Amino acid sequence: MEKVTLNNGIEMPILGFGIMQLMGEDCENMVISAIEAGYRLFDTAELYGNEQALGNAIKRSGVARSELFITTKFGSKEAGYEKTLAAFYRSLELLQLDYLDLYLIHQPFGDIFGSWRAMQQLHKEGKIRAIGVCNFTPDRLMDLIANSGFTPAINQIETHPFHQQTETALFLQENGVQIEAWSPFAEGLNDIFTNEALARIGAKYEKSVAQVILRWLIQRGVVAIPKSARKERMMENINIFDFSLSEQDMEEIKTLDNNKSVFFDHRDPAIVKWMSEYAWLNV
Ligand code: NAP
Repeated sequence: MEKVTLNNGIEMPILGFGIMQLMGEDCENMVISAIEAGYRLFDTAELYGNEQALGNAIKRSGVARSELFITTKFGSKEAGYEKTLAAFYRSLELLQLDYLDLYLIHQPFGDIFGSWRAMQQLHKEGKIRAIGVCNFTPDRLMDLIANSGFTPAINQIETHPFHQQTETALFLQENGVQIEAWSPFAEGLNDIFTNEALARIGAKYEKSVAQVILRWLIQRGVVAIPKSARKERMMENINIFDFSLSEQDMEEIKTLDNNKSVFFDHRDPAIVKWMSEYAWLNV
C-alpha cells in the first residue's frame, strides 16, 4: 500500500475504508473482510455509532495494532475543550484502543478552538498520532492555523469527479495539510458508476469506473476512504495500484467538475443551523 507522509512525519495509507452506515455485527464482518483484502486505514466517527464494532473487528482480526491506521471524529455537540476531551476518551473506550492514529473535528461549528486545544494536548501526551479537521473551507482553516499556531495534518472534505476541490487542494498543499476525500464516489449520485467518460477511460485499462475514480484521486495525492458493504467491491476498490491514468485521462476527468457539492454546502447558514441542532447526523 502506498503511503503519504503527514506534516508531522507520520505515514498514512493513501487508500482506506470508510465505515459510515455499517452497523453492528455486519460492520464487524465487513471490517474483517476489508482487513483480509488489504485495507489498513479505517475511518469512523462518534456519530456513525459503530466505533465499538470497529474495535471488536480489530481485536478479532489479530492484526498488529501498529499495522493499522484508525481515524475517528467528534461531532459539533462535542465542540469545546472539556467536551472534546470526554468525547475522545469515550471513543477510545468503544474502539478498545489505547491510542488513535488520527482524530478529526467532524464539522467546523461551535467552539472548535477549545476542541483544538484539547486535541493538541492529547497529541502531546502521545494519545493521538495526528490531529486534523473535516469540512473546513480555506478561510476557516487559515483562521485555525493563524490563531492557534498549530496546523492540522488533514482536512477531510467531499472530493470526487463532480466536486474536484482543485483550488482547495492547492491551498492545502501550500499549507502542508493533507487532503482526504470523503464520499469519493459521491455515494453513487449523478449516475457516477455509469458515467460515459469514466467508463470509457476504464475500458482502456480493463478497470471499472470505481477503480478509475480512486486511481485519479491517488494520482492527485488525495487520500481516499471509499465505503462498500460488498466484499467483491472492497477488493475491486483496492485493486488500483497496477495501472496509471495518462495525462490525457486526468485532463478529461477535470472536465467533469461542477465545482459544487452533490450533498450540501457547509457554508450555507441553514445547513450550519441544521447540523448544529441535529448533531447526531451521519454527515
Ligand atoms: P462513497 O464511498 O462515495 O460511496 C459508497 C457507495 O458506493 C455505496 O452505495 C456503495 O455500495 C457504492 N460502491 C462502493 N464501491 C463500489 C463499486 N466498486 N462499484 C459500485 N458501487 C460501489 O460514500 P460514503 O460512504 O458516503 O463515503 C465514504 C466514507 O467517507 C464514509 O464511509 C465515511 O467514513 C466518510 N465520510 C466522511 C464525511 C465527513 O463529513 N467527514 C462525510 C461523509 C462520508 P455498496 O456498499 O452496496 O457496495
